Amino acid sequence: MSISRILSLALVASLAACAGPRMHNKTQTAMSPAGVSASTAQKWLAQPLRGKCIVVDPGHGGKDPGACAVDGSREKDHNLTIARLVAQQLRDAGAEVFMTRSSDKFISLDERAEMADRHHCDLFLSIHADAASNPSARGATVYRARGALAASSNCGRELLGALHQAGFDHRGLREAGFRVLMGHSRPSLLLECGFLTNSTDAANLNDPDWRARISDAVCSGVVAALRG
Ligand SMILES: [Zn+2]
Repeated sequence: MSISRILSLALVASLAACAGPRMHNKTQTAMSPAGVSASTAQKWLAQPLRGKCIVVDPGHGGKDPGACAVDGSREKDHNLTIARLVAQQLRDAGAEVFMTRSSDKFISLDERAEMADRHHCDLFLSIHADAASNPSARGATVYRARGALAASSNCGRELLGALHQAGFDHRGLREAGFRVLMGHSRPSLLLECGFLTNSTDAANLNDPDWRARISDAVCSGVVAALRG
């Protein structure tokens, strides 16, 4: 099979795994240069995140509901719904994925951080939804740790780029001292998907199509950052 044929198939496979437009652009870029080895092309064809380990962390849970939305829904439930979608997308792309919780259960911040080191993950990705006293505040935000590892910064830029290209409102890549970012030695990001205190963002978080689209974008950003 020719390299161009393999890469064409890889494009189809990658788009099937992660339907975001960034994936399309990245794959097109990868197809243009000469000298891409057949083994690399085959790896993309197989699954771009094969061999990678990712811990997906749905924020809050159990006795800790997180923020409360304008419609009365709770952050912990939104986080789990989106985290499940993201985890499935990453598994479809070949990653080994662990979730810090897969039900409405309280897990301490230290226990979550410990999972990152225990699994020696390539990325610890915490999923949250924001709240603010100003109801006009809206949009997604990507956080990395203060003094973040280069891998975290790179992944943060790719994740933000994927959200931007997919048309999501966002507030950029920021730094924070969150325990789940600082309490372990692995690359880490925290995504605030939007503001539960904003009526537009809250409606989006309740929309299955929107949730599927943001999960696609997150997966595309992670693939762009972690694929070999
Ligand atoms: Zn939260």
